[in-house]
Amino acid sequence: MKRRIGLFGGTFNPIHIGHLRSVIEVREAFGLDKVYLILSAVPPHKSNVGLIDVKDRLNMIRLAVEEPNEYSECPKKYPENYNDKPFEISDVEIKRAGRSYTIDTVRYFKSTAQKNDSFYLIVGLDAFLEIHSWKSYEALLESISIIVMARPEENPADNRMRWEILKDYLNTEISKDYRLDPVQSAFVHPNRKKIHTVDVSLLDISSAKIRKLIGNDRSIRYLVPDKVEAFINTRGLFR
Ligand code: ATP
Repeated sequence: MKRRIGLFGGTFNPIHIGHLRSVIEVREAFGLDKVYLILSAVPPHKSNVGLIDVKDRLNMIRLAVEEPNEYSECPKKYPENYNDKPFEISDVEIKRAGRSYTIDTVRYFKSTAQKNDSFYLIVGLDAFLEIHSWKSYEALLESISIIVMARPEENPADNRMRWEILKDYLNTEISKDYRLDPVQSAFVHPNRKKIHTVDVSLLDISSAKIRKLIGNDRSIRYLVPDKVEAFINTRGLFR
């Protein structure tokens, strides 16, 4: 069976609706069968200040995506052939000692793949614009297709701008041989995998914003799934 699998890594400190909604949209746009949410235990690029325990971050992801359907009067309804469980949680970066490098994670997934699996690494534009600082980024770009998601700007003219920014970045920091294929909305390179671009809903939510709201005793309701909010409050996280 042919499977298209998305890999979406993050610090998830905490997971929020911006993560979940954008990945659902990417999944539908690219016809992915499954998306693995991969918790970065020890992020190499972020300061550990304010980073809560990995177990709490993992529990919040579980609460966010594995909600059992308790409401019998409101059964889940999906279109036919729709995979009922779009997300899978991966703890591979927790089990692996040391810093959480994406190249190691991609190699792990490829080593466990079935014959016809194809993998896509899903990354926000802000994170992608630092990829030249990632460990073995050239090997990474050779080994896996990337989907860069960005939030549309309110002004359509600015939309073109952000893909221009990506193009400039690729050509100056990564390789002059990337060119934009407008038909595929992807950057192509003679010997590397494609870098796809996709617009996702504009949700101005970040984990940093949520941490700040909690620090200021403000509500985070509807920015995170209800159960995540309850977990944060019960455990007094981010205070
Ligand atoms: P922080 O605010 O602590 O830096 P974050 O909200 O950016 O965190 P991460 O866990 O670091 O979340 O991000 C994981 C991935 O999710 C990154 O690729 C990032 O670009 C993407 N991302 C985060 N927030 C959004 C959002 N609102 N919409 C789309 N993508 C997002």
